[in-house]
Amino acid sequence: MKFVPKDMGEAADVSASSQGWTSHLKLILAFLAAVVLVVAILGRLMGAAAYYMPDSWETKLAGLTKFSESSLTECDTEQHPYLTELFKDMVKKVATRKLDYRVECLQWEMLNAFALPGGKVILTKGFLDSVKTKEGIAMVLGHELGHHERRHIMQGLVSGLSTGVLLEILGAGDSVAGAISQQIIGLSVLKHSRENEYEADDFGLQYIVGNFDKTESVTEFFELVLQEQKEKGETASRFSEFLSTHPLTEDRIQRIKSNAKLLR
Ligand SMILES: [Zn+2]
Repeated sequence: MKFVPKDMGEAADVSASSQGWTSHLKLILAFLAAVVLVVAILGRLMGAAAYYMPDSWETKLAGLTKFSESSLTECDTEQHPYLTELFKDMVKKVATRKLDYRVECLQWEMLNAFALPGGKVILTKGFLDSVKTKEGIAMVLGHELGHHERRHIMQGLVSGLSTGVLLEILGAGDSVAGAISQQIIGLSVLKHSRENEYEADDFGLQYIVGNFDKTESVTEFFELVLQEQKEKGETASRFSEFLSTHPLTEDRIQRIKSNAKLLR
């Protein structure tokens, strides 16, 4: 009696099924690649469009942030009596956009400073406790004002927002409003490009060179961050959030110092 394998048909089916899965996988990967490409292109286009967005639109968008209702307070005028006036003077002399520029403080121990849509510059308690010199504070204020004036905030926000809204359309988010809100809150940890950081540094430095007698302490904040980084290591540092969002290196400090000399 001749032996005939009974499961030849099943084996043939398994092979067909395997091929089916492979083509399904290829389709899924192609779809994901297309989504990534669309998000990247959309992000770029939206970021570029954000550059031309009217200031009034930014002010309206800023109203959506929950951050403004949280723990932001007026800065302690006893600790740094000149802070508000210094920022006002800076805005008067170098700002050209029609935003509601103001400096506010946040009761966070972490040393940090960042800009929020609509014209706010936020300094943390950790920052105000650590940075002592007027030039050191002015440099950071000028840097954050530079992010506003060069429209880095809105470019970052809108680029990220386009991703959030697209994910929402694909059904991955809670709501479009939620995506907007999350993106704005995320600005406190917004990662600017190295080019944008340098541009903001240059903006702050221009003001200081034109309005201060000396520039020796302009890098105080950055040096404090580096010192802490060396002592504790990046991961354990209370500055780690700042470090993760800014391309902070000794090269950057050197760059600021040499530019300060050149501008003098
Ligand atoms: Zn920055």
